[in-house]
Amino acid sequence: MIQLKAVSKWYGQLQVLKEIDLQVNEGEVVVLIGASGSGKSTLLRCMNFLEQSDSGEIYLFGEKVDPKESDLNWIRQEVGMVFQHFHLFPHKNVLENIMEAPVYVKKKKKKEAKEMAWKLLCKVGLEDKANVYPGSLSGGQKQRVAIARALAMEPKAMLFDEPTSALDPELVGEVLSVMKELAKEGMTMVIVTHEMGFAREVADQVVFLDEGRIVETGTPEKIFEHPSEERTSQFLSQVL
Ligand code: ADP
Ligand code: MG
Repeated sequence: MIQLKAVSKWYGQLQVLKEIDLQVNEGEVVVLIGASGSGKSTLLRCMNFLEQSDSGEIYLFGEKVDPKESDLNWIRQEVGMVFQHFHLFPHKNVLENIMEAPVYVKKKKKKEAKEMAWKLLCKVGLEDKANVYPGSLSGGQKQRVAIARALAMEPKAMLFDEPTSALDPELVGEVLSVMKELAKEGMTMVIVTHEMGFAREVADQVVFLDEGRIVETGTPEKIFEHPSEERTSQFLSQVL
């Protein structure tokens, strides 16, 4: 579904991604871990072309993407993204937040978009919040709305960049459980998170990134119980 071949990215003199090879299969959950500054966000942003890599190749849904030729707006619809900070529209209520892109970007009929928004609100457990404004929601509720809003574009894959890092600890679980549910339904997901328990439970593949390089990839068991690289053990001993 998503494949990167020798993807590199520089910011000026600083190489933040170093020949990244990564394959995400349909229905798979891939969790990216690594220290702050290791390139996790940049890697995610390259996958849906919010950011462009400087070299290497990226394939989406079996086709090589050429940023000059491909329809990047279409790609960003097909590969949804959820951020640490929720970026909801403050002057629109919850239902309108979810309907916005389907109506104005995808040109869906309002009635259809509304029906879908309701379904998604039920899915994230917020059907009683349809008419309230983001300002009156908790962080966990806002993030669940952000997830519903991303799903409203009917993406083929979803990227999550530290979706629970800005939340009070007691609100983390409600967001993770929505993500677990999505995983169970077979959504293809790439998730940057520091929630190692979640990674252990949900990931098919865990990828450890250090200074822009993939140090090690494997099942949660392998990475968490038997890492083969010293760097991985070191990192895990700091976070576990
Ligand atoms: P992570 O998400 O793992 O914390 P990032 O992908 O955000 O890492 O950043 C990787 C490196 O790239 C860091 O050294 C960061 O300072 C640098 N960086 C990120 N975005 C930019 C940018 N827009 N301009 C310059 N440097 C950046
Ligand atoms: Mg980041």
